[in-house]
Amino acid sequence: MASDNRIASLRPATRLVHGGTLRSQFAETSEALFLTQGYVYPSMEAAEARFNGEDPGFIYSRFSNPTVAMFEERMALLEGVEAARATATGMAAVTAAIMGQVKAGDHVVGAKALFGSCRYVIEDLLPRFGVETTLVDGEDLDQWRSAMRPNTKTLFLESPTNPTLSLVDIAAVAEIAHAGGATLVVDNVFATPMLQSPLQLGADCVVYSVTKHVDGQGRCLGGVILASKAFIEAHVHNLLRQTGPAMSPFTAWVMLKGLETLDLRVTAQNAAAAIVADFLAEQGVIERVIYPFRADHPQHALAKRQMRGGGTLVAFELANKAKAFQAANALRIIAISNNLGDSKSLVTHPATTTHQRLPAEVRAGLGIGEGMLRLSVGLEDVEDLKDDLSQAFESLGR
Ligand SMILES: *Cc1c(COP(=O)(O)O)cnc(C)c1O
Repeated sequence: MASDNRIASLRPATRLVHGGTLRSQFAETSEALFLTQGYVYPSMEAAEARFNGEDPGFIYSRFSNPTVAMFEERMALLEGVEAARATATGMAAVTAAIMGQVKAGDHVVGAKALFGSCRYVIEDLLPRFGVETTLVDGEDLDQWRSAMRPNTKTLFLESPTNPTLSLVDIAAVAEIAHAGGATLVVDNVFATPMLQSPLQLGADCVVYSVTKHVDGQGRCLGGVILASKAFIEAHVHNLLRQTGPAMSPFTAWVMLKGLETLDLRVTAQNAAAAIVADFLAEQGVIERVIYPFRADHPQHALAKRQMRGGGTLVAFELANKAKAFQAANALRIIAISNNLGDSKSLVTHPATTTHQRLPAEVRAGLGIGEGMLRLSVGLEDVEDLKDDLSQAFESLGR
């Protein structure tokens, strides 16, 4: 893609619209959707050259596909990194980024507060293959330091965390990782690429569930792994090619269209979430509001240092589970769903849904109360969201 050097010097919103565009002979405006499994060669010699790497074209869509390649290139340009690999889901990206770095006898450190399936990979899956794992309180840098062992290969974290929106100091954990000869992988879903750049803070690899804000309109599942060419070659490239969690070209096409409006959507949803957080803090029935860019967030200074906005999610607590259920059930615009990053505002009760699998005491340790709700703020008019929340809270008095 000849235009890449020019595009890399442009601002993020422009890269999101033009990055990676690979036009066919028809010179289409919008990215083409190449629904093809394979590719034909003009001769056996050409096929041989393709396979031995002399001719860098496409071979088979499990390895790469023009539409998927456009999506990968656009993501790499957005994140300002050399290489990207798209996957079928966010969890395929997380699993490959971690598993690709380790073998039996190695050690992995993860923060305790993780998306449920990420926690499963570290806590349950890795040990089955002889990889030792330690879970630490991500906010406590001493715990990261003391968890390091000579065989520690990689550290994994999410910031802000799901659902309590606590933060991990990415630059500090990257330093700890590198001092011990390990890498740092960051799941940057909650912050989005628009509001936080882990690679610039020292992380070695960033993963996204593009199911969330990148699609942002509730259609397709997908994931992406972003890192240096060396990291991708050493840890991810062959694992993905040979085990096959490839993104479908259709999904890549949807995600390309999602990226074109990502900046607009995240900017609007971030602004609305900040307004909703302040609004919630004024409601008598709400015991606690958690939002990284509010001055009462315990890690507000860190949030301002490593994020460019507080994000599109707000967590808040009512007195108990019954009140949380009653309030959520009374909402008319905001829908009950465990998804996030959507143009539609969505609310979930983490203790009984996304974090139900965890024992009650582990949940309590993570600060996930029985009265906590997590709100993903969408693209509706924020005044309608405030009205909807108001009428739901009023119903609690009845
Ligand atoms: C949704 C999510 C994932 C998993 O992504 P899928 O696309 O559902 O596989 C991983 N990490 C975080 C933080 C998420 O929100």
